[in-house]
Amino acid sequence: MPKTLLRMKAIAFHAPFELACEAAPEPVLEAPTDVILRVDLAAICGSDLHVYRGVERGLDRGTRMGHEFLGTVAEAGPAVTRFRPGTRAVSPFSTSCGACFACRRGLTSRCEQSQLFGWVQEGRGLHGGQAEYVRVPLADATLVALPEGVPDEQALLAGDVLSTGFHAADAGDVQPGDVVAVLGCGPVGLCALLGARERGARAVLAIDGVAERLELAERFGGTPVPLGPETVARVRAASEGRGADVALEAVGHPSASRLAYELVRVGGTIAAPGVHNEPHLAFSPGEIYDKNLTYRAGRAPARAYMERILARLTAHRLDLAPLFSHRMALAEAPRGYQIFDQKRERCTKVLLTP
Ligand SMILES: [Zn+2]
Ligand SMILES: [Zn+2]
Repeated sequence: MPKTLLRMKAIAFHAPFELACEAAPEPVLEAPTDVILRVDLAAICGSDLHVYRGVERGLDRGTRMGHEFLGTVAEAGPAVTRFRPGTRAVSPFSTSCGACFACRRGLTSRCEQSQLFGWVQEGRGLHGGQAEYVRVPLADATLVALPEGVPDEQALLAGDVLSTGFHAADAGDVQPGDVVAVLGCGPVGLCALLGARERGARAVLAIDGVAERLELAERFGGTPVPLGPETVARVRAASEGRGADVALEAVGHPSASRLAYELVRVGGTIAAPGVHNEPHLAFSPGEIYDKNLTYRAGRAPARAYMERILARLTAHRLDLAPLFSHRMALAEAPRGYQIFDQKRERCTKVLLTP
């Protein structure tokens, strides 16, 4: 039977707030550098919600969702040298070649051949990993072999939220002894908190409006600061009245950008790892000038971080267990999106097993 007739289960995008678990063609090798991965575990990312809510538009109906996944190589193209059928591997959220100008500088998220998993627009792009199988282009440079001794659910995070969080702390240039404010205690914010602590922050003030997220931030070693009229005063009080040395803005909303501006001290740095869709900054060039601020933003080069993060996980240097709130079968993903979107049932992270 020709491969294209094979059917698999996948989570398909139909319209905002409308996803379905449906039969889809099993992916096939399209280039000699491709791998077909049998997905062992996938997850729903906060940035999947941008698509789900219709904030980011343009996805073709039927696009298979998801960019957080790991699995077992089912088939490898003839030019693939590092992966053979049976090898287990984790993927970053986008592909990269490992050889272009951007890749050579560690900016794998801006690779000349970068494609984001789960984004097909006008027939072009790459299907996602919330499926039984996924095609991974440029597999030798994109995938990372799974080390022994790391639980799948932790390794999965290396491909996105952990890399993004650690990158945020690097982009913020957190120094030993710094007071760091983390805005937004979702998975990326919590991972940024871990990244800031690893870089030696003296205090990480974790700001969120949801009580259970603050509890989680405390378990990750942060100082919970409820979002409200006292937020700025609390951060100033913790920093000898100056304001935070670094603000890591992990919300991706203008109100959070503005608050980051208010919180940071003169000469401080704001790093924004989240996706931003608005056309203007929440502060003016004059305001940046008046505070001598540094502002850094952009998609995290996850691939460039993965080996380092997997090594930390192998050494059990990070405890991520509190992050996972929901585990369900792939077919239940539409319900998982609903719960995650509405922040019900103390939902922080949904894992999906095909
Ligand atoms: Zn993501
Ligand atoms: Zn490249």
